[in-house]
Amino acid sequence: MKDAKTVTADGKHFELAANIGTPKDVEGVNDNGAEAVGLYRTEFLYMDSQDFPTEDEQYEAYKAVLEGMNGKPVVVRTMDIGGDKELPYFDMPHEMNPFLGFRALRISISETGDAMFRTQIRALLRASVHGQLRIMFPMVALLKEFRAAKAVFDEEKANLLDEGVAVADNIQVGIMIEIPAAAMLADQFAKEVDFFSIGTNDLIQYTMSVDRGNDKVSYLYSAYNPAVLRAIKHIISEAKKAGIQVGMCGEAAADPKLIPLLLYWGLDEFSMSASYVLKSRKLVTDTDIQSLKDMEEAVMALESESKVRAFLEERC
Ligand code: PEP
Ligand code: MG
Repeated sequence: MKDAKTVTADGKHFELAANIGTPKDVEGVNDNGAEAVGLYRTEFLYMDSQDFPTEDEQYEAYKAVLEGMNGKPVVVRTMDIGGDKELPYFDMPHEMNPFLGFRALRISISETGDAMFRTQIRALLRASVHGQLRIMFPMVALLKEFRAAKAVFDEEKANLLDEGVAVADNIQVGIMIEIPAAAMLADQFAKEVDFFSIGTNDLIQYTMSVDRGNDKVSYLYSAYNPAVLRAIKHIISEAKKAGIQVGMCGEAAADPKLIPLLLYWGLDEFSMSASYVLKSRKLVTDTDIQSLKDMEEAVMALESESKVRAFLEERC
């Protein structure tokens, strides 16, 4: 399966990508035959550092990943700090609800985070000439948040070009869809962004109002919940209507029970831990999408997480 194409039995191509946390992970991505990096979680660069990583340090990391992928797409997520991810050198006030608070893109586009964000964007823009870079912003709820972040991208690109620094002219800029507000407004976002990547880890958390790390309420934390499935189907369908690429980089993308549904809905890119890529490719190549219509209709008519789970388990 390593060098096989990710094509279904009825001839449709999908992209199988891998999630990484550091440049070292690229080796595993290639060893497992992934076609792209679908999520580079750059916050590890910040978390593994004693102080804010400099523009040059970041440039080296991004360049290493782009070069390691040899021209294959690399989706880099701008830093997703906050929630459960703290930085010892960044003084963040204690919050009652950190997952709902000052985190991720909300920091990046604030006065507090502006300099940090511009440093990251400049490093990414400089690295862009070493491969096929895509940038995505985490935790977007509002169009104006995306526009603010995109404006920083445009400004820093213009600054670098003025300084005579080369920047690729084909960098796609997209968003993670992991907040229900963005899922519901997917049609409006799709007019402005280059791509979506569905972050089911957080989309489940926020759709179900359930802390993703709390065992006591884990019965609520499931992608099989009909509300979550409808949200995913809606996001994919709006992306298709607008003609933009839609991927998924949350854990659900590697779930063999969900992959057939996602294929049926037309998810373009599946990004997962590298160790799942080959198994997933086998599943995709064995699947005939046209034969899934009845299954999809039956699943989407079910009323509860347990019924969906039981149905999909029996099928697998
Ligand atoms: C997600 O929320 O699905 C995701 C991929 O991001 P993270 O798990 O880093 O929040
Ligand atoms: Mg997330």
